[in-house]
Amino acid sequence: MHKLAQLDQKLVWHPFTQMRDWLKCEPIVIASGQGAVLRDIRGKEYLDANSSIWTNLHGHQHPKINAAIARQLKKISHSSALGFANEPASLLAEKLVQSADCGLRTADSDGHRGCRFSPKYKIGNPKLEKVFFSDDGSTALEVALKLAYEFTRRTRGAKTKPKFLSLDGAYHGDTIGAVSLGHIDLFHKAYGGMLFQTDKVMSPYCYRCPFNRAKPDQADARKYRKCDWECVGKVEQKFSAQKRKGNAYAGFVFEPLMQGAAGMIPQPSGWLAQVTQVARSHGALLIADEVMTGFGRTGITCHVDDKTISQITKNPTAKLFATQRVGVTPDFLCVAKGLTGGYLPMAATLTTQKVFDAFLGEYEEFKTFFHGHSFTGNQLGAAAALASLDILQTKLSVLQRARLQKWMHEELQTLWALPHVGDIRQVGLVAGVELVKDWRTRQPFALRERAGIRVCEAMARRGALTRPVGNVIVLMPPYCTTRAQLQKTVSALREGIIELGKKQ
Ligand code: PMP
Repeated sequence: MHKLAQLDQKLVWHPFTQMRDWLKCEPIVIASGQGAVLRDIRGKEYLDANSSIWTNLHGHQHPKINAAIARQLKKISHSSALGFANEPASLLAEKLVQSADCGLRTADSDGHRGCRFSPKYKIGNPKLEKVFFSDDGSTALEVALKLAYEFTRRTRGAKTKPKFLSLDGAYHGDTIGAVSLGHIDLFHKAYGGMLFQTDKVMSPYCYRCPFNRAKPDQADARKYRKCDWECVGKVEQKFSAQKRKGNAYAGFVFEPLMQGAAGMIPQPSGWLAQVTQVARSHGALLIADEVMTGFGRTGITCHVDDKTISQITKNPTAKLFATQRVGVTPDFLCVAKGLTGGYLPMAATLTTQKVFDAFLGEYEEFKTFFHGHSFTGNQLGAAAALASLDILQTKLSVLQRARLQKWMHEELQTLWALPHVGDIRQVGLVAGVELVKDWRTRQPFALRERAGIRVCEAMARRGALTRPVGNVIVLMPPYCTTRAQLQKTVSALREGIIELGKKQ
């Protein structure tokens, strides 16, 4: 075994990893990366098929991001945001506020077609104009949660006990506040005694929805579902019931368009616009977790074809956030992972002037937001983020994303022929492939069969690295991935699934 692998096994405890399994075989030790390719210490190359756990946007060693970090290094790496401002953090705040503005002051969605609950309410979108920096996805959510909690107490009265509603299967991070918002028993149950109580509401998991009357088919379940939007009805019921209790929900927390760690669960067109309007009509703050979905990850538009690409060639603009795709501006927008292009840990929580103003007062009133971390507003991270945002706005990047979204759709269609493929759900540049015993029955693999892990191990042997979420294989390539690289990834996945079938 390589000596670095030995050292790792002797000393390092890995996240979300059963270390008994980890210690059984030599780990892959990554030594370098270039574009969509990772190289290990033995020189073997792999495609980074999940963008290094959903963080990387433009590929590794992007010359513009490397140069921006190097330029900043020559000035200063870090100084404190407690008491001092700095150049790249101020510029980044400006750029984030500009990119997050959806330009629509009333929610007006593209997604009401066929919805039972047509929007009854025309509720104004707020403007996001204040940026609170932190370190990662969990801390971005903690900031939103604490601000929303205190804002509610200050506006509804200090005796109020603000309550939050989030989605079934939600994952918003590992810190205690973020875990309290989460609803994945496997991760969260053990810590129940440490958490505060939040409510959950059904999320629109069309493939396994109890209200979906459609028979299994070899197609995206969102497209052939037969239902009456009961999932939106459930959200309405929750909000109404909580209002009757005399303590309307303070906030509604959600991942827009697709829930990631829940198993890559996409929302059918129209769901997001409807539920956000329901939440607003009940006076709840909208807390959008765009830690995974932000920075172009959810794609250019629902579907990209040659016509879309030729339109983009003429007018290369694209919204960067999933909430913008449906014309909704939340009261809190939480971003992390891709903020720095995936190069450095940094996060931000954007919010409104109204929330900001609730924390203003005389020094001795102590209305201050008593929260912040040592590395808040870090210069190296901010420099990387500025460079990444510049790249995202170039014509080349917009076109690359549009093409990749189209290729992903085309390549993934080839997997429907496999009996172990139950659902393929793509939203922009993310896809989840749900493995089942047989697509005709939708019968899941038992977790102990480790079907997802086995397929990912088979993919790694074929030179493509990703990590499953249970029985769902995640494909989330960096935006610079070429068609040939994507084909190689999907072939590795196909062969991995076939291998799984043979070892049944
Ligand atoms: N929110 C979402 C939607 C996430 O996917 C994650 C991480 N997978 C987090 C929050 C937490 O982010 P981090 O791991 O950077 O703390």
